[in-house]
Amino acid sequence: MTTVYNFNAGPSPIPAPVLEKAKEEMFNFEQSNMAVMEMSHRSPLYEKIHFHAMDQLREIFHIPEDFDILFLQGGASLQFSMVPLNFLTEGKSASYVLTGSWSEKAQKEAAALGNVHTLASSKDQDYKWIPHVDYTELPENSAYVHITSNNTIYGTQWPDFPNNVNIPVIADMSSDILSREIPWEKLDMVYAGAQKNAGMSGVTIVIMRKSLLESANSKVPPSLSYKQHASKDSLYNTPPTAAIYITGLVADWINEQGGVEEMERLAKEKAKLVYDIIDDSNGFYTGHAAVSSRSLMNITFRLQTEELEKAFLTEAKEAGFVGLNGHRSVGGCRVSNYNAVPIEHVEVLRDFMISFMKRNK
Ligand SMILES: *Cc1c(COP(=O)(O)O)cnc(C)c1O
Repeated sequence: MTTVYNFNAGPSPIPAPVLEKAKEEMFNFEQSNMAVMEMSHRSPLYEKIHFHAMDQLREIFHIPEDFDILFLQGGASLQFSMVPLNFLTEGKSASYVLTGSWSEKAQKEAAALGNVHTLASSKDQDYKWIPHVDYTELPENSAYVHITSNNTIYGTQWPDFPNNVNIPVIADMSSDILSREIPWEKLDMVYAGAQKNAGMSGVTIVIMRKSLLESANSKVPPSLSYKQHASKDSLYNTPPTAAIYITGLVADWINEQGGVEEMERLAKEKAKLVYDIIDDSNGFYTGHAAVSSRSLMNITFRLQTEELEKAFLTEAKEAGFVGLNGHRSVGGCRVSNYNAVPIEHVEVLRDFMISFMKRNK
């Protein structure tokens, strides 16, 4: 087997020891002679997996006791409509900070259900940075403010979270969950599909302040109601059992590595390897994001011509790199630097970027 340097934006690498463990346990999970995905979700053995994943997430992500952890399906995309379904009640409006395609999509789904308001946007600057937000401009009847903490496509990230906002703050953290410490006092709800930083596709992690549930719309169909899922510990219907199992293993792995603190430290170290090359390249590589809004998770850059970009991506592919193409909507190149990407792979990429530059200057 030749080594693959996987920089996919999502689904993305899963830590090798996690895959190893899942392989070992595949045919016989804890002497049950069954695979996890063959078990009843009502069995004590599965319940152990389910609650272990929750507890371990709470531990490594320092989630306070007054927050619920939910395991839902439908991806982060279903949250785009579950959030307004549950919280955008009659007579209210929902405020969105637009920082990229995903926030636009989130707002669009809410607009199908009620009134939306754009609180700030950097769209006319090609989403190169996180815009300044004046929270005093929130409309009086705002149900919540929605932000996208990391913009997977444009490669920008909120350096900090909104401060002193007197309505619920909801963050789509699909591409930076478990990669940075969270000041929980500043947030009321966080959601993320697991397939970037927290496991495999199929489960969506929702972390919600319990008091938020009290204000939730009670007329929502049960399968789309946070209250319903929370009151059943995410066992209202069959949860994505295999994906939850993998998320539990990923959380164990993060714990063994030193926790989310260590993930954050490593993300900075790994991202610096690539940003330094961009900054020292005299314009051979140009970053898309403004320096102050740079993402530690998705590093986006361009080369001087499309021809050169094509050559870069072709040679990279031949050298074993996967997933370096920018998102189809923006082009260019993108390095996704999620938790499970080993620093050694980033070092190989750095060396490749240097050698490509030397050969093509
Ligand atoms: C990937 C991504 C999504 C979409 O996630 P799905 O699980 O495919 O619905 C939403 N928001 C952000 C920020 C993402 O990176």
